[in-house]
Amino acid sequence: MPLAPSELQIQGEPIFDSDSGGTRGEDHDPGVERSARVGHCHHPVKLTGQSHTIDRATGVILSSLDSAELPDAVLYVKCGNRRASACAPCSREYGADMWHLLRAGAAGGDKGIPTSVVTHPMVFATLTAPSFGPVHAVKRSGSRSRRCRPRSRGERCPHGINLSCMAVHQPADPVVGQPLCVQCYDYEAHVVWQWWAPELWRRFTIALPRVIAKALNVSQKVARKLVRVSFAKVGEYQQRGIIHFHAIIRLDGPPDDDLTFPPPHIDVESSWLADRVRDAARRVEFDAPPAYRHGPDHRLTFGNQVDARPVHVRAGRDDLAGPIHPETVAAYIAKYSTKSAADLDPGDRGASNAHLARLRRSVLRLADGADELYPPGGPFDNPYTLLHKWGHMLGFRGHFASKSRRYSTTLTRIRGARRRFQRAKARNPHRTVEVALLDRADEEETTLVIGSWRFAGTGWPTDEDTEMAVAAAARARERALSRRTNRQQGPTEGKDDEHQCRA
Ligand SMILES: [Zn+2]
Ligand SMILES: [Zn+2]
Ligand SMILES: [Zn+2]
Repeated sequence: MPLAPSELQIQGEPIFDSDSGGTRGEDHDPGVERSARVGHCHHPVKLTGQSHTIDRATGVILSSLDSAELPDAVLYVKCGNRRASACAPCSREYGADMWHLLRAGAAGGDKGIPTSVVTHPMVFATLTAPSFGPVHAVKRSGSRSRRCRPRSRGERCPHGINLSCMAVHQPADPVVGQPLCVQCYDYEAHVVWQWWAPELWRRFTIALPRVIAKALNVSQKVARKLVRVSFAKVGEYQQRGIIHFHAIIRLDGPPDDDLTFPPPHIDVESSWLADRVRDAARRVEFDAPPAYRHGPDHRLTFGNQVDARPVHVRAGRDDLAGPIHPETVAAYIAKYSTKSAADLDPGDRGASNAHLARLRRSVLRLADGADELYPPGGPFDNPYTLLHKWGHMLGFRGHFASKSRRYSTTLTRIRGARRRFQRAKARNPHRTVEVALLDRADEEETTLVIGSWRFAGTGWPTDEDTEMAVAAAARARERALSRRTNRQQGPTEGKDDEHQCRA
């Protein structure tokens, strides 16, 4: 399977670099060095082939790489997996890149985004699914824990099950996210909602500018000339196995002014934009087509608890409710960008979680029903086509992270900056790297890498090699954390260095 050049450039280059976890210090073992070159990735991708680095201006070949000349006769590249359960080091790198992207858009002063974005109205919004039946939950009001589902009159469902739960659950409690009555829980509606969640988000991004135009009392055409909506969002699974969206939503000035002016009329510290976000979310609905013969129609909406909090620099950094600081919100969302359905239940990829197992079975049942209702060559295309392929994601097929074009830089550019940092650090480990240099766009690179590579499997040659990579990753992590702690306690010198090291 040949890899696309872009994939190869994103994933392949770090082999040439020294990892920020470092081969310096105690690790001189060639095996550890080999694993350090791919950031101690637990399941690297193996490639065979050649590539040449060419000077863009002169066309001269500056260097060549041939897998046949490498140890093991393969080129190892990072798996690049987003999910912490799949590969911890690659997932950490993804989370760090995501943090850079989100932070730049929320606080500015980085990645070509001006610091003036902090004067723009901004909101941290969480859009959730409605209820498909009562589940056990961790409940809090502020910092106080509350009971799960107290009902003094002993409410019972038609199946005779007590719908009251007086327990105070902790997040690790295995009962959290499990339905009180399995028969009452609407698994079908849950899966249908999950399948259409990307469509609901899309409709929300259309509804919000409309609601804003209405509130400004102008036509949409005029509103487009006054303000522009930018966002970055990530999807995360709740314990009940349904996705919800966290988003930073920002209002920018007129398109011609390119992020320099805050839009008129709207006070940054007010809840004006938060109110509009809630209003737009409430207006979103979608009539999902039936998934099987004589199946019900589903009118899909977001849940009525839409959390929308103003984001601004005067908010406290540790506030759990109310306005939230841009740095806090970036860290919060980046943390969740590395989670997946498998992380809900670390034991054997969800096998021991009865609720998730029932959800997976519902996905397959609905997929079969849809295949029958919308046969190939029939009058209607199957709107649930490939649903069965998304069983492991419990029916969610969307992007876990997405952003509007102007929100901030792209992950590709951040990865380019990280590679430049690692290269500069490898050349000169004791100097602070000029951050401005790292933020140059990729197209300014003076060299071009042309290669032809083939997929040759995944993983390290032996189990011992894998164990070594896992152990080395843990040591590198410990060193990075202790460096960070030392730096936080010591003088503030080398702050830029620390900032980039998170990548
Ligand atoms: Zn990896
Ligand atoms: Zn409970
Ligand atoms: Zn019931």
